[in-house]
Amino acid sequence: MAECVFCKIADGRIPAQTVWQDEHVLAFRDIRPLAPVHVLFIPKRHLETFADLAGSGEPALASLARGIREVVAAEGLSRTGYRILSNNGPDAGQEVLHVHLHLLGGRDLGPMLLAARER
Ligand code: 5GP
Ligand code: ZN
Repeated sequence: MAECVFCKIADGRIPAQTVWQDEHVLAFRDIRPLAPVHVLFIPKRHLETFADLAGSGEPALASLARGIREVVAAEGLSRTGYRILSNNGPDAGQEVLHVHLHLLGGRDLGPMLLAARER
């Protein structure tokens, strides 16, 4: 998609620090890292949400798993651990409407979610 920031990264119109890629998936460092390792994995083809990876996106799903395995090893996270998360839609605060997985590691990542605030 012409104006999608991650499509621009996928086709080289915006530079990014690439750490891994294959035919279907590109992995690059997040511009505002939340942990010592913060890598984003995107399908090279524009899909909006994780659910859109079903069907024609399945080759990209297999590539995501392979890419995560390789980047986890390369970044030295195999023993210490890591978190993978994907924000989808407004309740999750998805900022970029091109599906992506965050790979986070290199420090204690704390609880999975912030505790619910009192209203
Ligand atoms: P979301 O909130 O949609 O799950 O996360 C979007 C992520 O994309 C954020 O962590 C943000 O820092 C990252 N991001 C947004 N624009 C760019 C960019 O132009 N380059 C890179 N490397 N990361 C970006
Ligand atoms: Zn896109």
